[in-house]
Amino acid sequence: MLARVRQFTKLTNVEAMGAQAMRRHNVALVMELIARDAPVSRVELAQRTGLTKATVSSLVAELTGAELVRDLGPEPGRAPGRPAGRLVLDPYGPVALGLQFGSGHIAGVILDLSGRPLARELRRFDVAGAGAAEGARAARPVLRRLFDEATTAGRLVAGVGVAVGGLVSRGLVTALPLGWRGVDVRALVAGELRALDLHGLDVLVAGEVACAALAEYQAGAARDWWYLGGEEVIGLAPLNPAVELAGDLGHVPVRRRGEVCACGGRGCLEVYAGRAGMAASAGVADAGAEEPLVSRVRTRDPAAMRALDRAAEALADALVAVRALLAPETIVLGGRLAAFGEPFRQRVVERLAPGLTLRPAKLGADAALRGAAGSVIARVVADPLAWIEG
Ligand SMILES: [Zn+2]
Repeated sequence: MLARVRQFTKLTNVEAMGAQAMRRHNVALVMELIARDAPVSRVELAQRTGLTKATVSSLVAELTGAELVRDLGPEPGRAPGRPAGRLVLDPYGPVALGLQFGSGHIAGVILDLSGRPLARELRRFDVAGAGAAEGARAARPVLRRLFDEATTAGRLVAGVGVAVGGLVSRGLVTALPLGWRGVDVRALVAGELRALDLHGLDVLVAGEVACAALAEYQAGAARDWWYLGGEEVIGLAPLNPAVELAGDLGHVPVRRRGEVCACGGRGCLEVYAGRAGMAASAGVADAGAEEPLVSRVRTRDPAAMRALDRAAEALADALVAVRALLAPETIVLGGRLAAFGEPFRQRVVERLAPGLTLRPAKLGADAALRGAAGSVIARVVADPLAWIEG
């Protein structure tokens, strides 16, 4: 299969590079401000960076020439004079592919640089029941269709970001949900790309919580907030894209003499606020991939509401430890628990001591998938010259 593919060059020793290193830094600075503040003018960029307008114009020319940035022209209806071009990340430039392994599905998305989805793919597949190699192989037709879409649209592919249901540390899966503990997902997905004759592509892998946190940040949430969510796990991650970190809040014990958890521990948050735990508490069968309680909460089914209370109380108790350790001022609640909407968030808020704001997430169940593709965009934004020279 023919696909237009480009690779990042390796970062060389910046100290030895002098002027070239300065240029790399300034291009990245301008690109990052355009990503954050778009639409933004050259004059505003000069003010915000402290660079001269001539330097900014030259850096912007480099970015527009590479189709990373687009000048939308002056605002319609603007008074005549010297019009200020509005700069945005180029929605017609390279695209980022996102892939997500959930326990019951494999999802894919193509995002343009502005974060707009151009195509989506969904394959129902028992990922949790299959081994990692078989699960990765099941992603091959999803990847093939995404690349076909990108190629048909004449787009360069900047890389593939992968969100894994669970948590990932130093490239290896560490959490329980998929049963992929210790698996190097990057190597598996890279192998699937080679099988499709796609070579030299960057593959970035992170856990679903870190991916969803990045997606919320890219959708406008603040850098010093934290994200609490996950579809398969209950995780906590900073929204700061420069920090690669996600903690497994689900296995923090909240009841000293609580029930035994699948991890071997006792009284973990997961037992009370996890999907299986909440289903059992409400006396509902856990179908595996789908959340069985959301519709019951909507109709205010008493058993479901009791399970919701129990989960909210356990989460509020876990947040006591989070506050002692990290002192967050704002936490964004997303993922599976956010699907219960305001009835759940309010129940948690009622149990929190003052000083912590728990905000609903902007994005829904596709946050991790968008963040997977978003990690590729973040990489282009952080070092556009690597892409331009690649
Ligand atoms: Zn546990």
